[in-house]
Amino acid sequence: MKKTDLAVAPEVEAIVEDRSILTSPRPSVDRERLQHHLREALKLLHVNMEDENIADTPRRWAESLVQMTSGYDYTDINKLTTLFRKACSAADDNCQNLVVIGGTYKTLCAHHILPFFGHFIVGYIPERMIIGASKIPRIVEVHMRRLQSQEHLAHDVADTIEQILEPRGIAVWMGGVHMCMVMRGVEQESSFMETNVLRGEFRDDTRTRDEFMSIVNRRGQRES
Ligand SMILES: [Zn+2]
Repeated sequence: MKKTDLAVAPEVEAIVEDRSILTSPRPSVDRERLQHHLREALKLLHVNMEDENIADTPRRWAESLVQMTSGYDYTDINKLTTLFRKACSAADDNCQNLVVIGGTYKTLCAHHILPFFGHFIVGYIPERMIIGASKIPRIVEVHMRRLQSQEHLAHDVADTIEQILEPRGIAVWMGGVHMCMVMRGVEQESSFMETNVLRGEFRDDTRTRDEFMSIVNRRGQRES
């Protein structure tokens, strides 16, 4: 992987780096109303609201839901693209190698509002621009703080990186454990799911795809 010094305006760097901004709640969420409805939901489940452990739960539940869906603060993909594009630098002529960045994610499934979490690996082949390695996890973070399916999450991340970098190819691998499969329904303990998004040269060129997949497999072995 190529190391690059990024010449980025300090205030932009601060915006992209500052976790509190990326996770700040939307001002438009009516917390009191949300708490009220969550309290009603617990009552419908015959939960004893007098229990001191439960009394403050609707407030905590509401706060955590607001935080875990704060990715909806960033609905304007163009603004997001502009924000992250400022953290890019030009790829030099011989920088046409595969760039690979990995990390972890955790999100809520759109179907059951239960967590799923795991690892991601993003690979891209630069055309004109490269992005600082720490920004890819930030992009994942914006999209994971929404109600998601693993497929959609992988595609959302690929879409955003594609819009920012216009690379020659983009690949996103995600592997995750889904609590909606572990805790309900068939209760499968080993509910590991893999998702692969391959575009551009990763789709068209077998060698590039194989190179990426061998990195995925090597990292998978290290992490398991
Ligand atoms: Zn689910």
